[in-house]
Amino acid sequence: MLEIAVCDDEKFVAADIEKMLIDLSILMAVPLGIDVFFDGSTLVDYIKSGKCYDIIYLDIEMAVQNGVDAAREIRMFDNNVLIIYVTSHESFAKEVFEVSAFRFITKPIEKGIFKKYFIDATGDGDLCYRLGLKSYAFELLQPPTTCAHFEGWNSGEFDELLKKHGAEFNIPDGFVWGATLPETNVYMLAGTRVYKADCAVADDLTRAEIEGRRQIRAIMDMLRKYGKKENLPGLVALPSYIGIRETRHIKCLYQISDEDAMYGKHFDDAIANGSYRLDIHHQDKPGLTFRYLDGSEVYVRPGFADQKGRWRKEMDVDPTFYQIPLRSIIPEKHDNLMVAGRMLDAAIIAYSGIRVMVNMNQVGEAAGVTSYLALQQQKRIRDVSS
Ligand SMILES: Cc1cc2nc3c(=O)[nH]c(=O)nc-3n(C[C@H](O)[C@H](O)[C@H](O)COP(=O)(O)OP(=O)(O)OC[C@H]3O[C@@H](n4cnc5c(N)ncnc54)[C@H](O)[C@@H]3O)c2cc1C
Repeated sequence: MLEIAVCDDEKFVAADIEKMLIDLSILMAVPLGIDVFFDGSTLVDYIKSGKCYDIIYLDIEMAVQNGVDAAREIRMFDNNVLIIYVTSHESFAKEVFEVSAFRFITKPIEKGIFKKYFIDATGDGDLCYRLGLKSYAFELLQPPTTCAHFEGWNSGEFDELLKKHGAEFNIPDGFVWGATLPETNVYMLAGTRVYKADCAVADDLTRAEIEGRRQIRAIMDMLRKYGKKENLPGLVALPSYIGIRETRHIKCLYQISDEDAMYGKHFDDAIANGSYRLDIHHQDKPGLTFRYLDGSEVYVRPGFADQKGRWRKEMDVDPTFYQIPLRSIIPEKHDNLMVAGRMLDAAIIAYSGIRVMVNMNQVGEAAGVTSYLALQQQKRIRDVSS
């Protein structure tokens, strides 16, 4: 049985921690002995009288003996107990370091911190990044796009106007794609492009948000000035934020190589099958390149004829799908963490196809199932059989 002390002079905080620990003990079928204290001095007396704890959740600012002084005394009797500070005051960091605190939890306490396994599904890998895990970003990130909804859209007219007048409105030469929303007359246009923005960086994200919206405005201005007045489309909705195709990747146990994806390599620990073409949105030139598993490719640029070619010679049998291995979503360090989403570990061309929704859905499901199995089998994530 794990022996735990909770010491906080805010009674509701102590009660919260106690409740979370009880819930966790039921969830994980681990028996816990929990003692609750409301001042440091009583806790110290208890330990002086011979009580041993495995973990102490300790507040810092308490009226009767603060948490740092209490920990100094506790360390005279017990060097092994894990002290976890629960505090709103990180200014004590230096003193806390002296008493070998195991970690900090800041108030208000979020239940998540008591969980055993974590899945980072933030797209940008924010959780892993803030934990200090190894990450990387390619120099040429796939650019972000602000989408918009229009009524009365006419793609033919728009393509013509964009070719003739796009430069006047500073609409970048990029890629235009769109579709009518099912059973509506609303058209979703993904026609903007913000180059040289790493949206995991706050300043870049702000600039990209502003620039993406400016481009939508510019599209409307162009249509108003040069489009047919009687058919002027109406802008009916803007997104809550810019669509981000790529930012950082988290270094995992395995990086999916370009060849793995392009030649449809199969893995023993496959968690997803994908057949979506490799879809490289260029950062260094307009347009995009689609690469297919049959070895063909096409470069597409709005207003220009498609350029068709091959990226490899003919083979007797073409692969029909590529795979995503479990190892590519398990970060190198930490035994209880996975990434589920576009921050997975993949080389630049492999990533261009792997990132799409049908693949990320499979990855998300696999991450959920893997963490469930790890919990059930009491294993490290990487030891769960795929
Ligand atoms: C313009 C555009 C068009 C695309 N078109 C297609 C297409 O046609 N077909 C296709 O299959 N794919 C398409 N994609 C790609 C696909 O949408 C993405 O690659 C995929 O959605 C990525 O999924 P994800 O879960 O990894 O990340 P995201 O979809 O980015 O999801 C991450 C979520 O985490 C949330 N989040 C981030 N940080 C935090 C935090 N700290 N706390 C809480 N929440 C947080 C975000 O708000 C977001 O909701 C397109 C992408 C873009 C940008």
